[in-house]
Amino acid sequence: MTIYDLMPIPQLLDAKRVLCVQPHPDDMDVSCGGTLARLADQGAEITYVTVTDGGAGSPVRTSETELAALRRQEQAAAGAIIGVKDYEWLDFPDRALLDPAQVQDAVIRAIRTHRPDTLVTVDPWLLYESHPAHRTVGQCVAAAAMFSGMPNISPEQSDAGLLPHTVERVVFTFTANANTQIDVTTTWERKMQAIAAHKSQFPESTWSMYQYYFQSQAQTAGARAGCALAENLRVLSPLHLHCNTDV
Ligand SMILES: [Zn+2]
Repeated sequence: MTIYDLMPIPQLLDAKRVLCVQPHPDDMDVSCGGTLARLADQGAEITYVTVTDGGAGSPVRTSETELAALRRQEQAAAGAIIGVKDYEWLDFPDRALLDPAQVQDAVIRAIRTHRPDTLVTVDPWLLYESHPAHRTVGQCVAAAAMFSGMPNISPEQSDAGLLPHTVERVVFTFTANANTQIDVTTTWERKMQAIAAHKSQFPESTWSMYQYYFQSQAQTAGARAGCALAENLRVLSPLHLHCNTDV
């Protein structure tokens, strides 16, 4: 018997209400847009919570306010292609280090508001992940998955009528430790269109290189899954996220 006989890896394609918490506009579309499009097609409600305003995502000096506004438009266009139903913008400044206590509290609030069965975020334990927003957001979402069901955590939210809520599964994207491959062959073109809608991040000068890279990654994952194109994900239960030396 293994830990997974006692605490099985949840089935991602059973998700009905999906809350995606991303550090920046584009992270979800790039890392798991094909899976999210499949879930949307089968009736799941997809909500994107974007933690930073994205105002630092440029190789040239530019207005943070204008870039943040542009990236909201790009995310709306991309989300329409994927099938995203709702958006929440936490608007932490992209240029500054995030305060984990504030991010965790905001994510717990979002969980108690939207009451998802599934949380999706970036894997903060990707070995060479150097972006502090990715590390902080991933860790805060994992912590929020443990704490959102505990009324003594962020109690002012309960006092305001946001009752505790626990999700069934937590999905880490941009992961090197996948335990799940989702066949995205039928939604691949939509995912590519959604990524291309983030024009400020994927200008034409680099788009063909990125397309080739994304495609070859998906083919490798697909070979593991027995299909043409797949996305690599790590799916866990909140039970797996604390003091669990077997996960
Ligand atoms: Zn990012």
